[in-house]
Amino acid sequence: MRRKLVAGNWKMFGSVARNASLVRGLLDGLTDTPAEVAVFPPALYLQQVVGLVAGRPVLVGAQDLSPFAEGAYTGDIAGGMIKDAGARLVLVGHSERRHGHGESDALVAEKFCAAQAAGLTPVLCLGETLAERDADQTEQVLGRQFDAVLNRAGAAAMADAVLAYEPVWAIGTGRTASPEQAEEAHLFLRSRMASHDAMIASSLRILYGGSVKASNAEAIFAKPNVDGGLIGGASLVSGDFLAIIAAAS
Ligand code: PEP
Repeated sequence: MRRKLVAGNWKMFGSVARNASLVRGLLDGLTDTPAEVAVFPPALYLQQVVGLVAGRPVLVGAQDLSPFAEGAYTGDIAGGMIKDAGARLVLVGHSERRHGHGESDALVAEKFCAAQAAGLTPVLCLGETLAERDADQTEQVLGRQFDAVLNRAGAAAMADAVLAYEPVWAIGTGRTASPEQAEEAHLFLRSRMASHDAMIASSLRILYGGSVKASNAEAIFAKPNVDGGLIGGASLVSGDFLAIIAAAS
């Protein structure tokens, strides 16, 4: 049985005061839930947020990391630093990095390996653009993005990783994949994993991300291959995020 995970990607939003108030709202409303909960603040605030959630069942992750362990890479942040700040997870290959910062499949694979080498659990984001979906290339794109990491890291590496299917056309657009579209993509990814290792495939958590809201979360999370969500905008309002966590319960 896979435990659902509801993860909030704060993107480049927040301040010391706003983070404190958002986390307070989250912790005040968080009741016993079978779902795992995680938040991904901007890197500068990792230590603050780790301190704020100390002793509560909320994991903290970073939104990106360097493919290198250390060195002369001005402005970059190494996985070891993220771990040192007390975080446990890190997003890899978010579409805003792939498309906004030109990150290639090969670079994403290097970052995935760097995350695991630092003792972090990577949350590997994959997804097709609207043009790719319209051209019937969704599975081809997901397969290419997933294979780049499988070939570099090896199938066994997926035993300590999470996937997040995030169609680019659904991120921050208000346009959500239907539960059936999400299920189809998740099933494709799980089958791809199963062709390497059936045991890992059955335990691999695959989150859906893209304009998840309290109103659509339950239907999406009800699909058998959807193991929770990666939530952007709605994770910045504690009440909305709590309602999505409740939908996963
Ligand atoms: C995201 O940033 O990963 C995301 C899914 O954003 P949103 O929920 O705002 O579409």
